[in-house]
Amino acid sequence: MISTTEHYEECFYDLNTGIVGDHERPHKPAMLLAVMDLIEAREINLNLIPFSTALRERFTFYYDIVKLGNDQNTPLNPYFYLRSEDFWSHVATPGNEAVVKALSSPPTMGKLPTIIQGAALAPDLWNAVTDATQRSLLRDVLISRYFPQHRNLLLNSQIAINAIMEDEAEYQVPGRSAGFRRIVVQAYEHQCAACGLRLRRPDGATIVDAAHIIPFSESQNDHPRNGLALCKNHHWAMDRSLIAPSPDHLWLVSQELDSRQAGEMELISLSNRSLILPKEKAYHPLPEALEWRKVRLI
Ligand SMILES: [Zn+2]
Repeated sequence: MISTTEHYEECFYDLNTGIVGDHERPHKPAMLLAVMDLIEAREINLNLIPFSTALRERFTFYYDIVKLGNDQNTPLNPYFYLRSEDFWSHVATPGNEAVVKALSSPPTMGKLPTIIQGAALAPDLWNAVTDATQRSLLRDVLISRYFPQHRNLLLNSQIAINAIMEDEAEYQVPGRSAGFRRIVVQAYEHQCAACGLRLRRPDGATIVDAAHIIPFSESQNDHPRNGLALCKNHHWAMDRSLIAPSPDHLWLVSQELDSRQAGEMELISLSNRSLILPKEKAYHPLPEALEWRKVRLI
């Protein structure tokens, strides 16, 4: 039995963000961060979130930090399309229930307030985000999963909005390993990025782990691009810097390995072999994470 917060940690990890080119759109997680900030600042006090100037401004604040490529500053889109997630719905103005239900794309900015009073969160999620500790955990999931490269800036921004919360716990939350693990293992189709081993049991057990390239304790980065699917042997060897994935997607092996030892010879044979990577480029490992590993090879 998982708790409400754990359930929504999973939901937040798995947002249907839309992938374009080599990155995921930042809009939905940025919108959720904006909503939580306004709850924290007590600008939103009811589970009926209007598409207000304050919300658009707070969204833009995040968007400006996290945007990539051809992303557009369109707060209306996530405000509308979050309805595809189980926890977000729109409350119609009286008489417009059917109209709102039938919408397949966002109404115009002018029309929106005439038909939509606000967005509502699932009641148990609302209870969670109005609790400071749970909100902090959920916020951390969004940042660790979607915007780890901006972590310090985003955490500082929250401190700016609410100096009350000097909560050390926020810096010490463990990785949200369930979501990280699931996405990484799926992206690599249950195959070790080093040896290609794939072994699954009918109960779903798989031989590969989702390995953090830069350990979570150092990076607080739970984005799938900080992950590799590795079998137990290669996970163990990478964690001990005996093998390392390089930024040009080749495996490097430690000079300390001894070719006279059969087990070590097996690792040495990995030298200069290509990483076995996901089809989806959006899940390819971050070059800076690979560099981090490469320079630590012993
Ligand atoms: Zn392997």
